[in-house]
Amino acid sequence: QAKRLGRNRAVGYDASFDANTSERLQLVKELREAFENNEFVLAFQPVFHRDGRPVAMEALVRWNHPEQGEIPPGRFITVCEESGMIGELGRRVLTMAAKHHKRLSALGLGQFRIAVNVSAAQFAESLYEDVQQAMVDHGLRPGALELELTESMIMDNPERAIATMEALTHLGVSIAVDDFGTGYSSLSYLKRLPIRRLKIDRSFVRDLADNDSDRSICQSVIALAKALELETVAEGVETPAQRDWLAEHGVDELQGYFLGKPTRFEGAVALMVKALPADHPVVAALSRPM
Ligand code: C2E
Ligand code: MG
Ligand code: MG
Ligand code: MG
Repeated sequence: QAKRLGRNRAVGYDASFDANTSERLQLVKELREAFENNEFVLAFQPVFHRDGRPVAMEALVRWNHPEQGEIPPGRFITVCEESGMIGELGRRVLTMAAKHHKRLSALGLGQFRIAVNVSAAQFAESLYEDVQQAMVDHGLRPGALELELTESMIMDNPERAIATMEALTHLGVSIAVDDFGTGYSSLSYLKRLPIRRLKIDRSFVRDLADNDSDRSICQSVIALAKALELETVAEGVETPAQRDWLAEHGVDELQGYFLGKPTRFEGAVALMVKALPADHPVVAALSRPM
């Protein structure tokens, strides 16, 4: 702190430096209160197979701020990482996701997975123990949870990542690589990793209609995934044209505003139930005369 003040003095008064610092301190203080007051909630976005069947929902954390309303993760995850709060946030998210999977099971929808995002610091810390705890506490079945990791988390320390990922796989948790294509993956590691899915980053899906290179990138990722016996999920599907192109080119699963925006659990469940085939037991039960 003294060093900071000294440096600040040397360059003269810097109002923006002070404002940023105090804003950040305020944010850290409010985040501590948020943990105390349980202000974190999950939004859920449904994921569908290319044939239209629902397959999963992704849990996306939100901060329900008492004055500012819903704050997206982009505005607090990094601060949580830098101030030592990410482990606790990650455990809360895992616990909430596990509880919601129990609710899915109670509705007869237990075969659908819930995908949970993981941050780099959390992955390097106690992810395995935290996941195991959440699964045991809530009696989750294998396949209930998927974890979304990024390329950089894995490639930072591949040997260690492989060990953690293998242990997680043995717990019955599948692993997806999020935002695939935006990082630097080593193909020789990709081949060795216990990965189930690649999520094609939404930046490659956005301009599919008029960008040749984006179409080539999507086709290459789909081909790579096939060669490595992985599945693909396209993120950020916003138009019927994008959905149709991706489905025609063999993407396995789709997610995006066009198919369903992130919403409260009940909303995501409703979208999934609407897309169930007529012979699904839940649909059959709903249409049985009372
Ligand atoms: P992500 O995992 O790649 O999640 C997708 C993001 O894209 C979400 O933003 C989602 O709301 C948004 N999205 C979904 N469909 C569309 C679409 O069709 N168009 C557009 N433009 N956007 C779409 P969100 O919820 O703000 O999350 C941002 C990022 O924050 C996530 O990116 C993920 O990396 C991170 N995150 C979310 N929840 C958690 C969490 O519980 N823990 C950690 N560590 N990170 C999280
Ligand atoms: Mg994700
Ligand atoms: Mg993503
Ligand atoms: Mg993304």
